[in-house]
Amino acid sequence: MSISVSKISKTYDDQHALKDVSFEVKQGEIVGFLGPNGAGKSTMMKILTTYLDASDGTALVNGFDVNSQSMDVQRSVGYLPEHNPLYLEMYVREYLSFNAQVYKISKSRIEEVIQQTGLLPESNKKINQLSKGYRQRVGLACALLHDPKVLILDEPTTGLDPNQLVEIRELIKSVGKEKTVFLSTHIMQEVEAMCDRVIIINQGEIVADKNLNEMIDQNDQIIEVEFDYRVEDAFLSKLDHIKQVKNIYGFVYHLTFDTAIDMRPAVFDFAHDNQLKILQLSRKNKDLESLFRELTN
Ligand code: ADP
Repeated sequence: MSISVSKISKTYDDQHALKDVSFEVKQGEIVGFLGPNGAGKSTMMKILTTYLDASDGTALVNGFDVNSQSMDVQRSVGYLPEHNPLYLEMYVREYLSFNAQVYKISKSRIEEVIQQTGLLPESNKKINQLSKGYRQRVGLACALLHDPKVLILDEPTTGLDPNQLVEIRELIKSVGKEKTVFLSTHIMQEVEAMCDRVIIINQGEIVADKNLNEMIDQNDQIIEVEFDYRVEDAFLSKLDHIKQVKNIYGFVYHLTFDTAIDMRPAVFDFAHDNQLKILQLSRKNKDLESLFRELTN
């Protein structure tokens, strides 16, 4: 097990930021730690990286106890904090060399992480000349320097524009092929885009811990379909597994099915058999989003 958290609680003065939190992350997984702002995500990550002591409970990272073996934990974990503290006046290589000294890391390793994180084209610039996306790459490069087995990334995509977002997600997924990644976010789509599993936290408590496939299968399936003509709801209600028919606008309908089987072929056949023409047909996944809202409201 890469991360093993058992009954961790944390109180700030009289505020309970984490209450009896337990979960595990297996080696090689990319796990999303999802929750609204203030849920306790950063607190948990600071405890796992030994920047903060828990009030109660135990946590192991790569088998090392965060309370009694903090140096071993730090050596085996790469951490990208939420507010990545970069020295803006330093050049990219200079900054990485500066950090490399802490772990006595070779120059060749610095070049490796520059390659790995796609920093090469910007590597001769000062950090304050970089876009937010490239600054995140510097943070990631820094977290990777000592070749840790586990990466802990606190809201790694916050504040990025849509292009940077896609690039950083790809980078995290590619890094995740070799390492265990535990990343926090308050955006459900982030989890869908990058993770194998999601752990949802709300007000300091774990409210869900599931593989992404399970989460999708558990929910109703919604298919959006547009016909070339008005169709009666009662007629569409003849479809197998149908739970609800909703006319959204014009001739566009949302068909909700209570099955995990992909119903798109069935809808297509149904239309064909009844001389209806389909102008568009797509499966909606927005129910994941509403599940998140349900669990965290
Ligand atoms: P998240 O990362 O999910 O946004 P945090 O772990 O930052 O949540 O915060 C969890 C709760 O603990 C919040 O209510 C926050 O206000 C509180 N908190 C976090 N850090 C401190 C601190 N240093 N002192 C007091 N309260 C804090």
